[in-house]
Order: sequence, then C-alpha cells, then structure tokens
Amino acid sequence: MVFGAGSVGELAAEVERLGAKRVLLISTPGRAGMVKRLAKGLALAGVFDRAVMHTPIEAVAQARELAASVKADCCVAVGGGSTIGFGKAIALSSALPVVAVPTTYSGSEMTTIWGISEGGAKKTGRDPKVLPRAVIYDPELTLELPAAVSAASGMNAIAHCAEALYAHDGNPIVSLMAEEGIRALASALPKIVADPRDLGGRTAGLYGSWLAGMTISTTSVALHHKLCHILGGFGLPHAETHSIVLPHAIGYNQAAAPEAMARISKALGKTDAARGLYELEEKLGIPMRLADIGMKEADLERAARIAVEAPYPNPRKVEYEPVLRLLRDAYDGRRPS
Ligand code: NAD
Repeated sequence: MVFGAGSVGELAAEVERLGAKRVLLISTPGRAGMVKRLAKGLALAGVFDRAVMHTPIEAVAQARELAASVKADCCVAVGGGSTIGFGKAIALSSALPVVAVPTTYSGSEMTTIWGISEGGAKKTGRDPKVLPRAVIYDPELTLELPAAVSAASGMNAIAHCAEALYAHDGNPIVSLMAEEGIRALASALPKIVADPRDLGGRTAGLYGSWLAGMTISTTSVALHHKLCHILGGFGLPHAETHSIVLPHAIGYNQAAAPEAMARISKALGKTDAARGLYELEEKLGIPMRLADIGMKEADLERAARIAVEAPYPNPRKVEYEPVLRLLRDAYDGRRPS
C-alpha cells in the first residue's frame, strides 16, 4: 500500500519490486492519454486502453490475448473498478501480478472478487490470484473525477461499509474499519461535490474507500449488494444503482440489525441510518430514483423474484412482498419513513 498526494511517482519502483520487466498498462479509452503520461519510466510491453464497465467476456478475451502476445509479466491498472476488473480478469486466467492505481472509490483494488459478464449475466467469484500485489492511492489522480461520478462511487463505498456492519461473518475489527470508512466518506463527499479539486476532501475520500474495500474483502455481502447485482443484469450503471438502493436496503434491515444501524447513524452524525443516507444523497445532488437511471417499472417484479430465489444470509428474511416494496420505493425515490 502506498498512499498520498504524488505517490503515483512510486509506480515504477513498485513494479520493479515485483521483478516485472514487461508491463501491460490498462485503462478506459477516456483516460488513456493521462494513464500513458503516468507510465513514463515503466518497462511497457503493451497498452490495453479498451476497459469498459462490467468486464464483458469478449473484451476480456482481447485483453488476455494482448497480455499473452506481448509476453506481459505484470498488469498495471490505472482507473476505477472497471479498469481494475480487467487486470483481475487477466490475472484469473494467467496468475500475472496486478498493480492497481485506483482513481474512483469502488474499493475493487482491495478485494479478491472478480466479475465477468457473459450473455447479459455477470458471473462473480473470489480468487486470491486476482488480489492486486501493490496498490497506489494518489488523491491527485482523482481531482478530475466528475462530482456526480465521485458522489455515486463514494456511496458505493459506503454501501460496502454498511453491509460489513451486519455481515454474518463480520468481526469487531472489520466493524471499526467500516464505521470509520462511513465517517470519512460522509464528511468528504459533500466537500468533493462542492469543489472536485479539494485535495483534502479527495484524500479523505480515498482513505474511506480503502477502508471500504478492506471491509468487503473479508465479509460476505447481503441484500443490498445482491439487489444491485441483479439490477446490474438489467443494464443499470453500477455506482448509481448502489447509491439509490442503499437507503432502502438499510431501511429493510433496520429493525433486524440495531447495533449496525446505531454505528451507521453515529458515523453519519444522524439519528436514523436509512434517512441519514437518503439525506446525504440529497445533499450530493445525485439521482435518487431507479426510474431515472433506466429501470423499467415492468421489471421490478422480476428483480424481486430473482432476489428471493436463492436464499443467502441477511439480517431480515428476504421475502418477495417486502423486497418488491423496497424496489418500488427505490424506483420512486421515496424518502425512508
Ligand atoms: P468505472 O471504473 O466504470 O469508472 C467510471 C467512469 O469514470 C469511467 O468512464 C472512467 O473512465 C472514469 N474515471 C475513472 N477515474 C477517473 C478519474 N480519476 N478522472 C476522470 N474520470 C475517471 O466505475 P467504478 O464505479 O469505479 O467501477 C464500477 C465497476 O467496478 C463495476 O463493473 C463493478 O462491478 C466493479 N466493482 C468491483 C468490485 C470488486 O471488488 N471486484 C468492487 C466494486 C466495484
């Protein structure tokens, strides 16, 4: 872990420490210019600048072919969860080491979780091979992340922390990190939205997302993440879906996980966890209704049915009617009562 403004200057040294001599650099098309400038001094063997959201298998196949054809011995992924996802997908089939330079708050860089989409469904799994060997958090690289993307991505990180607080396999150390992660992000995000170039806010935002990534890497996710995964299958954008669903999923579990709720409220500086999250999002000015990010009302029932089909641990029993109500509230952006 390397953390701090300007720390991307350590990238070549970190790669060297792994003994790598043929780096495959990975980015999205939009960030390719910036990423290539950062890569000066790296022993570059190739560049894959076609990373896209949800790691579709066709694009993954191209990235894997490129890694093999240039004989890469290391992947350096500079970007958000989508970009890091491509590094992980290459590592999954080749065991190449990944160095991650995260520029959003997804937390993917801290986890052994990989995801690959095929035929409209996203398959995910855990494998230690995909966990980045080195991570560089440089807040200066996040100064250009647009306010709305930052806010939604930060709420995605808060969601990791919130569910870690009531995970069936949580523990007191993870809960400390989760509570501190929510505190850091809830105070950083309004500053970032007010001024995306506020380095103090950006530093606190990355610190919170690092903690959030740590929490999700060691605990199982529950209803909130499962619902967002299902909605992702309907083509909804990842971070925005998380931010819209979160207050409603927390409201669903509120009575069944009182200790977690008390810690979420405390970290937010509010008296009620679900309403506190909703009010934070109002302040950030991000979309509050699934209806506004492409969800079709006709699909709500299907999503609720998929959610109850395979049982999984969650503080409150996952049942069709209340889950459908949760989804309708998120669809309409209703304020938690
Ligand atoms: P993203 O990676 O898709 O990035 C969003 C947009 O922001 C992209 O267009 C990107 O090019 C741009 N961007 C990124 N950094 C920027 C910067 N510093 N300045 C300007 N623009 C920048 O979004 P995300 O929310 O970080 O990641 C979502 C993906 O990550 C999903 O596919 C999700 O499933 C996955 N994810 C995985 C894990 C895991 O543990 N495996 C955890 C969280 C998310």
